Amino acid sequence: MSSHLPFNTTMISHLFTPLPPDGADDATPGFLLLLQGSSLLLRAGTAQELFSDETVPANIRPHGGLIRIGLWQGKPLRAARIPSDVPVPDGCEALPFQGPDFTLDNTLATIAGRGAQILHWERRSRFCSHCGSAVARIPGGWGKRCPACGEDHFPHIHPCIIVLVRRGDKLLLIRNAAWSVGRFSLVAGFLDFGESLEECVQREVREEAAIEIANIRYVGSQCWPFPSQVMVGFLADYAGGEVKADGVEVAEADWFPEDDLPMSPGGKRSIARWILETYGGKS
Ligand SMILES: [Zn+2]
Repeated sequence: MSSHLPFNTTMISHLFTPLPPDGADDATPGFLLLLQGSSLLLRAGTAQELFSDETVPANIRPHGGLIRIGLWQGKPLRAARIPSDVPVPDGCEALPFQGPDFTLDNTLATIAGRGAQILHWERRSRFCSHCGSAVARIPGGWGKRCPACGEDHFPHIHPCIIVLVRRGDKLLLIRNAAWSVGRFSLVAGFLDFGESLEECVQREVREEAAIEIANIRYVGSQCWPFPSQVMVGFLADYAGGEVKADGVEVAEADWFPEDDLPMSPGGKRSIARWILETYGGKS
């Protein structure tokens, strides 16, 4: 099931209870989700363990700026960003939660991603984008309200489609111009104004590979907190045209035999890999 992909809530629902940020925080000792760049700071020498108020080294203990995002194993979990120029002290290791080959386990990667997404929103939502005044929190959630002009602002989560297109026993893969030679993945892209998700799938396949598709069906989705997307996965069947890369955004586009696929750039925890493994096998 796609809900079991890393970064989706199901991955941590046995450990984590989300809480609204404005609830009373009685300063009960708890765990610290300390992020530095795209890494999570953990106790070195443990089996990947979050710092607690008792175990955090003094030189990375944040002074203010901690936001309680919920409960972790029943105790308050507070998140903060550590500036990138703060050296990682002894007793601490920084493990990436982003990238194709990270070693952090799925639960910690998921909570790190959630923390990163929340901190990104908090950092970007301090002022009203309509009039520039400082905003206040709307009780009970992560939204903000502008006291000057009354505008409400809610977390920005950007939908992206990703689609596996099949033609008999061949699959459509593309190489983004920014990827190294030999790495391919599925057609993907951001939802545009006025589009349904299916229309977005159709347009992206047209733009990236110049073909028409039919029989578009939803298969699952994944939170992608880099910084704040939701990847919405689809399957589709080839319906016409000749595959051709646009040569700008997409360097190569082609059909590949389902039993002989090239390297995928998304990493083993991405929905791209999940779709290929779940639906890319023998037709
Ligand atoms: Zn305003």
